[in-house]
Amino acid sequence: MPSFDKPIVVIGAGICGVSTAIWLQRSGHKVILIDRDKPGMAASFGNAGLLAQWALVPVTTPSLWRDAPKYLLDPNSPLFMQWSYFPKMIPWLARYMANATDAKTRAIVNALVPLLTDSVDQHKSLVRGTPMEKWVADSKLSYAYRSLAHFQKDGYGWALKRDAGFVPTMITGQAVREEEPILGSAIQCLAVLEGQGHILNPGQYITELAKYFETQGGTFLQAEFQDFTKEKGHVTQVHTSQGSIDCAKAVITSGIWSKDVMQKLGLSVPLETERGYHVIFKNPSIMPKNPMMMTTGKFGVTPMEMGLRCAGTVELGGIKAKASAGPIKLIHKFAKEAFPNLTYSSTEEWMGFRPSTPDSLPLIGELSRSGIYTGFGHQHIGLTAGPKTGRLIAQMIDDQPSNYDLSPYDPHRYIS
Ligand SMILES: Cc1cc2nc3c(=O)[nH]c(=O)nc-3n(C[C@H](O)[C@H](O)[C@H](O)COP(=O)(O)OP(=O)(O)OC[C@H]3O[C@@H](n4cnc5c(N)ncnc54)[C@H](O)[C@@H]3O)c2cc1C
Repeated sequence: MPSFDKPIVVIGAGICGVSTAIWLQRSGHKVILIDRDKPGMAASFGNAGLLAQWALVPVTTPSLWRDAPKYLLDPNSPLFMQWSYFPKMIPWLARYMANATDAKTRAIVNALVPLLTDSVDQHKSLVRGTPMEKWVADSKLSYAYRSLAHFQKDGYGWALKRDAGFVPTMITGQAVREEEPILGSAIQCLAVLEGQGHILNPGQYITELAKYFETQGGTFLQAEFQDFTKEKGHVTQVHTSQGSIDCAKAVITSGIWSKDVMQKLGLSVPLETERGYHVIFKNPSIMPKNPMMMTTGKFGVTPMEMGLRCAGTVELGGIKAKASAGPIKLIHKFAKEAFPNLTYSSTEEWMGFRPSTPDSLPLIGELSRSGIYTGFGHQHIGLTAGPKTGRLIAQMIDDQPSNYDLSPYDPHRYIS
């Protein structure tokens, strides 16, 4: 087994960092995982829990040019903007919108295929033989539409999904309620994908993955990353609020805050947050049998250990502004419309920061020959792709050739 004298430091213990730490450990490396918080408390905590193998089509499809202005003016749309932040976002938005062409959409889909389509197996491989197996559930996933006509309007995205092997079974009319008794008459069409999966409590899953990493000999240090030392261009130390660590390599898996970590290297990356929200309906009178994507409202609905979680929407507004009321109201409104008979004891609300790049692809790779690797920028699909990302980084560090074309994730596409 390859190993270095000094440890590898992984900066950030969300799903990407914890997975990377475990795969590096399994390759025989000494690993120190650091986070200023407890593991799994940021974006990885409150997501919809969907192992979204099918989420290959980015938001930046060609129709975004037509839809975005409409969405921004419509109070019932799932896209929100904090207008005071808008001027700061213009450079990122310009690059983001430049990806909304047919050719670029297809290139993004092709690049996401290896990262996403075996996600359920990747999660199972991460937890096999451990008590965390209980958090990875097999399930179907239904896209819920108001009508068949609404499904047909999504034809562009479904054609791309079909090409990648995701062919839905269509259910319409009263049969919708036989498939999912929680749904009321507002939903008249389901596009059902078999053989998917979800996580029953993402925060607890990551907490336990980090504990498992420690029981296998890894070190978790609750500390704030401060800086790197490099000698002859190669990392030798990571400095933290709890002291400096001599290291052989370092990995940046700090979610949206990776932008700040990269700045310590003098590198500027186009990373912005797509803020997302969740509402948990506690003690629900009825649960969906399987997770669903509500296409009106653009949120996932997932039966979880702590209740029924509805998570999604996009708000552009940076990381400093407080949570807004609009996205939460929208989730409540469309949940009530879709689940008219749902009662519950209380709700819990949350906001988190998706780390998003203009081309909807993460940065996975080594920064020049510095011994510093990136594993961030997973936008809407970080829970899905985290374990695969960790495995790819471990293979890169061990100089193992990959079966995949990794060039679409090359961090240098954004760094000159
Ligand atoms: C509402 C919503 C729903 C979503 N639903 C899904 C879904 O169903 N399926 C899916 O695949 N994805 C989903 N996502 C996206 C997914 O949650 C993210 O892509 C993923 O969690 C990102 O993981 P990460 O490990 O990169 O970052 P994070 O989970 O944000 O972790 C980064 C970590 O780095 C630490 N850190 C940062 N800076 C420092 C520092 N200076 N020093 C020390 N530590 C630091 C932070 O404390 C944090 O713990 C959703 C996101 C949202 C917001």
